[in-house]
Amino acid sequence: MNELAQGLILRQTDFREADVMITVLTRDYGKISFSVRGVRRMTSKNAGSVIPYTMGEFQFDYKQDRSVFRLKTARTKKFYMHIHQDLKASAAAAYAAQIADEMNLAGSETEHPAEQFGMLETCFDLIESGMDTHTVLALYLSDVMKLFGIAPSADGCAVCGSPRVTSLSVSEGGFLCAEHAAARHLPVLDTADLKRFRLIAKGGLKHADIVSKAGGAELKDLVILKEILKHHTGIEIRSAAFYERLFVVD
Ligand SMILES: [Zn+2]
Repeated sequence: MNELAQGLILRQTDFREADVMITVLTRDYGKISFSVRGVRRMTSKNAGSVIPYTMGEFQFDYKQDRSVFRLKTARTKKFYMHIHQDLKASAAAAYAAQIADEMNLAGSETEHPAEQFGMLETCFDLIESGMDTHTVLALYLSDVMKLFGIAPSADGCAVCGSPRVTSLSVSEGGFLCAEHAAARHLPVLDTADLKRFRLIAKGGLKHADIVSKAGGAELKDLVILKEILKHHTGIEIRSAAFYERLFVVD
C-alpha cells in the first residue's frame, strides 16, 4: 500500500554505497527512518528532497512493526531557506532536531507523534522567522519536557513548594527557596533571572511572541533546561556544544 506521510527530517546518514538513511519525525507515524537509494549519485532525483531540517511529504509502503522503510518518492513542503543559509539558525535547528531524535528511541512507538511533530514544526517556523534562537530553543525544550512529564518546577520550591524562591537547581529540577538552596550551597539568583526562567518554563512555544517581547531567553536559561533534561533522562544533546560555542565567540 502506498502511504503518504508528512514529516520533518531530523538527520541524514550515509548508508551503503550510494544510498542514505534519513530519520524523520512524522505527524502520523512518529519517528521513522527511510532508506533512500542512489541519493549520492549526481543523477538522483530524490537528492534535493532529503535534506535535514526540511519538511517533506514521503511516499512509502507501511508495514506494521517496522521502523525503517524504503522511500519511494519525497517532495519538499517547506525548505526553510534562512535555516539553511544562516549558521546560527542551522545550528539551532540541528539542536532542536536532535532533541526530537533523542527523545524517541529507534524501534519503539513514538508517544504523542502529532504533538511532537507540531512542536518541532513551530520551532523550525520560528527559527526561520528570525526570532532569537535562544528563546525559540528554550521554549521548545520547555514544551518537550512538559509533554514527557519532566517540566521544571516553576511555581515554587521543588522541595517544599514555597512560592518564595531564590535559586535554580538542576538536580531538583527547578526553583528552590532560600532554605533549600542554602542546604545545597546554591547561589542566590537575580530576581530578573528567576522571573525570566519562570516565563520560559510556563510559557511554551505558543506564547513565543509574549516571551520574546518580554526580553526572551538567555543562553544560560537554555543550558539549565538542557541540564535538567539530561538529569531526568540521561540524554546528552551533542549538537548543543556546537550551538553554545557559536555564541561564546561573540
Ligand atoms: Zn523549599
